[in-house]
Amino acid sequence: MLVKVLDSQLANMIAAGEVVERPSSVAKELCENSVDAGASAITVEIWGGGIKSLSVTDNGHGLHPEDMETAFLRHATSKISKPDDLNAILTLGFRGEALASIGAVSKVTMTSCFQGEEGKKVVVEGGKFLFSGSAGCPNGTRIMVENLFYNTPARMKFLKKDYTEAGYVEETVRTLALAHPEISFRFVSDGKEKLFTSGDGNLKNTVYSIYGKEVSSALVPLEYEDNGIKISGLAGNITLYRKNRKLQSFFVNNRGIVNRTVTAALEEGFKGMIPIGCFPVAFIKININPALVDVNVHPAKLEVKFADENSIYSAIYWAVKGALENKLTPVIDAVADVPAPEPEKPGVKTSVNVAVTSYETAKETESEKNNTAFEYKPTVTDLEEFLKQQKDESVSLFETIEKEPAPMKKIEQIEFTQTTITPTDGEYKIIGQLFDTYILVQEGDNLTLIDQHAAHERLIYERLVKEKKEKEIAHQMLLVPEVVSLTPVEFSVAMENTEFFNGLGWEIEEFGNNDIVVRAIPYVITKEQIKDTLVEIISNLQLGRSETGTAKEDRILYTIACRSAVKGNDKLTLPEMEKLVREVKNSEKTLTCPHGRPVSTVITKTFIEKLFKRL
Ligand code: ADP
Ligand code: MG
Repeated sequence: MLVKVLDSQLANMIAAGEVVERPSSVAKELCENSVDAGASAITVEIWGGGIKSLSVTDNGHGLHPEDMETAFLRHATSKISKPDDLNAILTLGFRGEALASIGAVSKVTMTSCFQGEEGKKVVVEGGKFLFSGSAGCPNGTRIMVENLFYNTPARMKFLKKDYTEAGYVEETVRTLALAHPEISFRFVSDGKEKLFTSGDGNLKNTVYSIYGKEVSSALVPLEYEDNGIKISGLAGNITLYRKNRKLQSFFVNNRGIVNRTVTAALEEGFKGMIPIGCFPVAFIKININPALVDVNVHPAKLEVKFADENSIYSAIYWAVKGALENKLTPVIDAVADVPAPEPEKPGVKTSVNVAVTSYETAKETESEKNNTAFEYKPTVTDLEEFLKQQKDESVSLFETIEKEPAPMKKIEQIEFTQTTITPTDGEYKIIGQLFDTYILVQEGDNLTLIDQHAAHERLIYERLVKEKKEKEIAHQMLLVPEVVSLTPVEFSVAMENTEFFNGLGWEIEEFGNNDIVVRAIPYVITKEQIKDTLVEIISNLQLGRSETGTAKEDRILYTIACRSAVKGNDKLTLPEMEKLVREVKNSEKTLTCPHGRPVSTVITKTFIEKLFKRL
């Protein structure tokens, strides 16, 4: 007989290949068990990249002494018991194969103390029990894995250098820490602490502990709920982006995942906001009925499958869009010592240094060192009191500052060309453009910062809405009609909605072979923006299928406005700034946006004088 059922040890070694690929997979499985055990503190310690040894210690509920051997058997789990349970998985583990697999390819020492029971120790090597007996230990569980892959040389050869493997383990711990801000994670490699999170439950603080201030101080909160899908987390404001996707993390019901739909939705939401070729930064949490997501499609449960990909896409897209609108919430960074102005340079144009008002946080505070809650410690001694007094004023920046964990210490300086503008209508003066994004306007005793993109977008949107209501959206006929090639899906959506398009300032027609011909466009759009805008509208039409006419229309108008508005980081000429400011001034609605997002914010003269101790 040639076909035989493998003995369990061999079967486990093969299964280990699926679950246990490298030390980081061991770390992931063990940490997930600790999370499932309700731990509030988890320590991962490795030596030699985790190949020599890797231990995970938790303060979770532990294993009952009678369960400790069973836990090492294949398909032994306390987390599910019947097929139905697979449809609603709330724990990270459920297959009951991690411990069996790890135990088959290493030496595992598990010590655990279950509440009210005596501590116990079990040692397994190469799938065989070597020891089992009582042991003194604190509540919780410690699992030590030594000599990983000692009996599977092929796997061993496949491993990379120790420091590379250590890096993978760190990455794994990082993802888990971001998924669980309420758990304190510590990662130690070759005796050095590499990562520590406080477990205070605040995602922003967790990001700060892992990636530092530069990233954590440039994040805006995400919040969106639709169709039973809840999106939360943080995304970088438009000034924060990266050349790769390393600072993008997605979590479904607190499980770190990889999925193309969610990545695409995030990037679509940022389209046009950050430079081409750059990737957004985001930590996105998706909460969804577990029955609507299959986590059992990948050996490491990394990839997931959503029952309704469109709704997920739509929820993330709108969460991001909404957050980017709110990016306007002013955040004033850091600092106390503003340098003396530079001497004037010769020439017609005078260069001046503008120090952005910023507050300095004190030296590393005690709590910061321990990475527990952050404290705001201004060095301008009376600032705190001042902020309290000012709190009633509508300037939201004061609230923002207090909530910001540890603002930056460095002074941000920009140089711009001083303009000699005479005030246009009203009593205001345009000082210039800050960071190519904000227009600074002096008006009486106030300095107003206007976000050029938000303001412009808002103005265009209001105009489109008004036109639509009154008559029709102003459009321009194209001298030479433009042919746009679409994907088959896009094409069919466009064809189903030609009337809809035509009601919103477009004129499109079938051109055959998935091509459409565009004869007219809303006047706010330029020829260059035709294709991108069209494709975005089409994808919005796909997403907002369930919506009613006006809500759908609103989204489309919003897309058109967003597409055609000036962007952040666009240099504006003086006449352009003047025009925009004038329109903002003339439009009451602009400053009191219905979604509650500020288009502009005000810094008072008193506030500035306080900073310089003039008062
Ligand atoms: P799974 O996590 O899929 O259930 P594992 O092989 O990872 O399977 O673990 C088997 C069982 O051992 C778990 O179901 C759980 O009951 C128990 N267990 C493992 N690690 C821990 C831990 N750190 N604390 C408490 N129980 C644990
Ligand atoms: Mg497990």
